[in-house]
Amino acid sequence: MSVRRVITVGDPRLRRRSKKIEKITPALQRLIDDMIETMHAENGVGLAAVQVGELLNVILVEDPDDVDEEGHPRLYVVINAEILRHNAETEAGIEGCLSVPGYVGEVERYTQVLVRGLDRRGKRLRIEARDFLARVFQHEIDHTQGILYIDRLTAPDRIWPVEEGEEEATEASQRHQTAAAPS
Ligand code: ZN
Repeated sequence: MSVRRVITVGDPRLRRRSKKIEKITPALQRLIDDMIETMHAENGVGLAAVQVGELLNVILVEDPDDVDEEGHPRLYVVINAEILRHNAETEAGIEGCLSVPGYVGEVERYTQVLVRGLDRRGKRLRIEARDFLARVFQHEIDHTQGILYIDRLTAPDRIWPVEEGEEEATEASQRHQTAAAPS
């Protein structure tokens, strides 16, 4: 496993659609392992393969507050991820992105989504996610479509630099920071 370099905004690959994966291969397993190591090294709560330069539809999501029975965070690896259903309700929240370093912005997201895809062994998978977890899935699935959170700001000025010493902006982070009410 190795930590891969995360590409940042301006790199044209972030604007392309990722390819659907047709075959589960050892190379794909290595990519997934590298992505996991990279996400952990960057303290991200999610990562899409395109962010390490691979235009393949694979995403990771790991929300520290979404834990299993033993209290360990659940790591979701989803191949060919898509949103099958979502509720009507949306909520504004603050997001960051490893590919947009130094900034956070306000984005409106569905509060519940049903995600469909394959696990890393190729088995069909459905995940019901709500609130922050749903936000991270929407952010990562957007990456597979060439969409960045900065395309979805609630208003063009709802983006802010992260000041030095403040919590580093990580992938779809800043969960505890509540968005200010629009004035
Ligand atoms: Zn991102």
